[in-house]
Order: sequence, then structure tokens, then C-alpha cells
Amino acid sequence: EALGPTITVGEILVEIMATTVGAGFLEPQSLTGPYPSGAPAIFIDQVARMGGAAGIIAAVGNDDFGRLNVDRLRQDGVDVSAIAIHEDWPTGSAFVRYRPNGARDFVFNIARSAAGQVGLTSAAEALVRRAGHVHVMGTALTIPGAREVILYAVETVQARGGSVSLDPNLRKELLTDDGALDSFNQVLATADLLLPSGEELFTAAGSTDETAAVAKLLESGIGEIVLKRGEQGASFFGLGLPRIDCAAFAVDEVDPTGAGDCFGAAYLTCRRKGMEPDAALLHANAAGARNVTRLGPMEGVSTLAELAAFIAATPRR
Ligand code: ATP
Ligand code: MG
Repeated sequence: EALGPTITVGEILVEIMATTVGAGFLEPQSLTGPYPSGAPAIFIDQVARMGGAAGIIAAVGNDDFGRLNVDRLRQDGVDVSAIAIHEDWPTGSAFVRYRPNGARDFVFNIARSAAGQVGLTSAAEALVRRAGHVHVMGTALTIPGAREVILYAVETVQARGGSVSLDPNLRKELLTDDGALDSFNQVLATADLLLPSGEELFTAAGSTDETAAVAKLLESGIGEIVLKRGEQGASFFGLGLPRIDCAAFAVDEVDPTGAGDCFGAAYLTCRRKGMEPDAALLHANAAGARNVTRLGPMEGVSTLAELAAFIAATPRR
């Protein structure tokens, strides 16, 4: 951590949730929100809550949706100096409703919101120049301006001896644009830590066997891979190191959104603070599990003390 803060780049959104289970938004219904959201924002808020130095390069509108996000991030200790406030674009939003089978219907306004306007401002450049780690969210690589900032940040921070992590949460369906896929492969080639969940491991490795996919990625130079398995917990893989499996904590899932982001932030922050992989993995599992017990993607972020208390008090699956 001595080298500088952990930074990330990408979408800040509000999330507005249907209060009932069902299919989509074709009839009037009750909604709850706005909640602060956006994968990079949730991630960086969790880093800061744990006491990690943290900053984000992002853009919001000059509206309440933007203000509630920036206020939350600032209050939790995130450096918000590189969040641009746009007069002409509203803050991004995501409406979500769960179906009975757990599938989700979304209405997104990202590309044509302020989030689509992320770019390399002078404040962004200044933050990149003092950063020690860049966390790349796959989702952000679909925003052309964010992609440019990410590639600049990865190069700059690695040149000064910093490190890079990648959450490949970029759905195949979104990979229509060559730029997104090219930049994804560029980041993957230099990442020190990869945090995939489910199918993302196979997409990244181009293989459908877990052991083979992990081996291939480790041999390509990725130092650590931490695989997220939802309510099955998570696993750590390092080149030449024994695999570590971590059972999930037994919790009642209220809202799964944001678990992966909190998990990744907790793992990275523990590692940057000098914790060994097994302890970092345990804290990350706790951060993911704690987050799903709260409604709202960013409402279940944890301090280190909260994680320690949760670990001591909660049985495992
Ligand atoms: P998202 O993209 O929705 O934020 P993800 O797919 O990246 O999530 P998950 O595997 O769903 O990530 O969750 C991350 C981690 O959080 C899991 O590896 C696990 O440790 C914890 N977790 C998630 N869901 C549960 C649950 N229902 N019970 C206990 N732990 C959970
Ligand atoms: Mg994910």
C-alpha cells in the first residue's frame, strides 16, 4: 500500500429495485431506491471502508442521483477528486427486478448517461500518477472513454512498480464491440490478480475445464486467481502453491448484487495490507456473505472490525 492508493475506473449508477418478484417493468409497480451502485463504485467503497487508501475515476450528473453516490463514497473515505460532474448528462441508473427463478430483468441507462462520459480529465491523470494499484472492472471496458483511462492507468501504474487486478465481469453478450474485447485481453495479459466468477474463468482462459483454465492463466503470468462460487464459497490458486478452498458462510441471502465486488475489494485490500492468501480469502468470503444480507448493492460493505466479528460469529456451509 505504501506505493499509493488502490484506484478503479468506471460506472457510478443508482439502482432502483422492484419490491415484488416477477417479470420486468411492463406494468406500474412499487419500486425501492435510489441506492448507490455501479460495480466499480461498490468495489472502491468496500476498499475504503476496510481502511484501504482508495480513489475512483468516474462521472455523474449534477443531480441527486449523482450527489447521493458522491456523498456516500466521500463519507466512506474514497478520494472523489476524479469524479467529474456533468451538467448535460444525468447520472446513470439501473432498474432491476427478480423473477421467481432468480433471473433478473434490467433497464439500464449507462452508455447515454454521465457514466458514458468517463474520460481522462486532469484530475483523473493526477489520481493515476499517485496510484499504487489499479482494479479493472470488466463492465467498465464497455465504455469507450473509461477503456482509454483504464489502459492509461494500467500502463502508468505498472511502470511505477504498482499492480493490477481484473474482475472479468464482462458478459459475453456485451462483447459486441472489438474495443472492449481487445482492451480486455490487454488487461488480462498483464494482470497480477484475476477475480472471476462462474463462466468468466472459462471465457478468460478459452477452456471449459476448471483445472486446465486455471493452469493456463497462471502459466500466462497471472500471479493469483481467486474464483468466486456464490453460495459455494471461493477458491485460491497461485502458481506452484497449494490450492485453498473456503466454504461460504451460512447466511440468508436478501440481495445478491454487489457480493462479488465486496469480495474482490476485501481480498485485494487484505493482500495489499500484507495478509497471506488464506486469511485474505476468509475475509473476502465474509465480505461477500455480509453484503448479500442487506438490500441494496452498496449497503452491506464492511469494516475490518465488522468482518472479524462476522467471521467469529457465523457458521460455515
Ligand atoms: P456479483 O457479480 O453479483 O456481484 P459475483 O458473481 O461476482 O457477484 P458471487 O460468487 O455471487 O460473485 O459472490 C462473491 C462471493 O460472495 C462468493 O464467493 C461468496 O464468498 C460470497 N457469497 C455470495 N453469495 C453468497 C451466499 N448466498 N451465501 C454466502 N456467501 C455468499
Ligand atoms: Mg461478478
